[in-house]
Amino acid sequence: MTEKVVIIRYAEIHLKGKNRGFFERVFTVNLERSLKGLRHELRRTSGRYLVENFDEARVDEICERIHNVFGVHSYSVGIKTEDTIDAIYAAAESVAPTIGTFKVESHRADKRYPMTSMQINAEIGGRLLSKFQELKVDVHHPDAFVYIDVRENGSALVFGEFCKGRGGMPVGTAGKGLLLISGGIDSPVAGYMMAKRGMTVEYLHFHSYPYTNGLAKEKVVRLAKTLSRFTGMHRLNTVSVTQIQEEIHSKCAAEYNVTLLRRFMFRIAERFAQKGGLQCLITGESLGQVASQTIEGMTSSNTVVTLPVLRPLVGFDKDEIIERSRDVGTYDISVEPYEDCCTVFLPEFPAIKPKLKDLEEEEKKLDVEGLVEKALSEREVIEF
Ligand code: ATP
Ligand code: MG
Repeated sequence: MTEKVVIIRYAEIHLKGKNRGFFERVFTVNLERSLKGLRHELRRTSGRYLVENFDEARVDEICERIHNVFGVHSYSVGIKTEDTIDAIYAAAESVAPTIGTFKVESHRADKRYPMTSMQINAEIGGRLLSKFQELKVDVHHPDAFVYIDVRENGSALVFGEFCKGRGGMPVGTAGKGLLLISGGIDSPVAGYMMAKRGMTVEYLHFHSYPYTNGLAKEKVVRLAKTLSRFTGMHRLNTVSVTQIQEEIHSKCAAEYNVTLLRRFMFRIAERFAQKGGLQCLITGESLGQVASQTIEGMTSSNTVVTLPVLRPLVGFDKDEIIERSRDVGTYDISVEPYEDCCTVFLPEFPAIKPKLKDLEEEEKKLDVEGLVEKALSEREVIEF
C-alpha cells in the first residue's frame, strides 16, 4: 500500500524539557483545529507528526493550513510505502529529480532492517543513476535530496523537499494577552508576533460611532478574521469611546487630546483584561513613529495601568512592519481608507512630550472612573 502523507517537524518545543508533554498536547490540538473540515488522521511518531488518510487532491490545502500553525518548523509531502527495497525505490523515483545533482539520505528507526543506512543510500542512489542519465550524485552540495525513513512498523517514508513552516511556539503555551487592535497596519502585526511566541491573543477595538462608521468596524472584523488563522481567536470585543472623546474635546486642552484618549484606552483595556484573566496588553506602537509614540507618550499611558504592556514592534521601521503585514495577510485590509477613532478630534499640534503633571491636571476636569466604567459596561462582542 502506497499513500501520500505529510510529515511535520516541530520547532523549539523540544527545548522545553519537563514541559514537553504540555507543549505537544497544545500543538496537537492546534494542528487538529487547523485541519478541521478536511478528512485526515494526525499521528505523533518519534518527535514528528504524520498526517495520513487525506484526500490526495487536497494536499495543497492541507499544507497551506499546516504552514500557518505556529510551532511547525518544517513539513514535507512524502510517500508512505512498504519497507521493501523495491517499494522504497518506486517511491524514491517519484520524488527524485530527473536532472541535476542529488543525494540520498536514509535513516532507520528499525535497526533490525536487513540493510544499513549506507547500503540503502547506495542501492537507491545507484538505481536512480541508471534510470536517469542526466542525474549525478553530489554528497556535499546536491541540488536535491531524497530522504528515506525506515520505520519500525514495516513501513517507510520517502520524501524530497523540506518546506519551511512559520516557526514560533504553539498558541496557548505562553499565557494570554489583550491586543488593542485598530484598523491600522501595525496592531495586527503586533498580535501576530505575540501569537507566534505562543500567546493566546484576545482582541479589543475602540470605536467612536457615529463619528466613525460601521464600515470602519467591519474592517477591523476582517483584520481580526485574517489574524485568527494564526491565533485561533474568533471574536472581537468592541468598546465605544465616543463619549470620552466628546468630554475630552469639550473640557481639556486640545494638545493633550490624543494622550488623554490613549490613557482612557489603557485603563479600559486593563480592566477588561483583568476580568478575563488576560495577563498583559499588546499594542502596535513603534518608537517615534507618530507624535504619541515617544517614550514620554508611552510612559504617560503606562502609568495608568499595572499590567505589562508588550510592544513587539517598538524597534521596527515602518517598511519592516509593512513587509510583515503583507506576510500576515492584513496589509491590503489595513490600507483601506476608513477613519479610526484616533483621527476624530485630532488636534493640529498634539503634545509630543506630554508631562504627567499636566495630564493629571487635565483629567481632574473629567469623571475618569465613571467614564471608564460606563464605556466598559457597554462593550460588545462580535463572534465570527
Ligand atoms: P496602528 O497601525 O496599529 O493603528 P498607528 O501607527 O496608527 O498604529 P496609533 O494610532 O498611535 O498608531 O496607535 C498606537 C496603538 O494603539 C495601536 O497600534 C493600537 O495597538 C492602539 N490603538 C490605536 N487606536 C486603537 C483603536 N481604535 N482600538 C484599539 N486599539 C487602538
Ligand atoms: Mg492607527
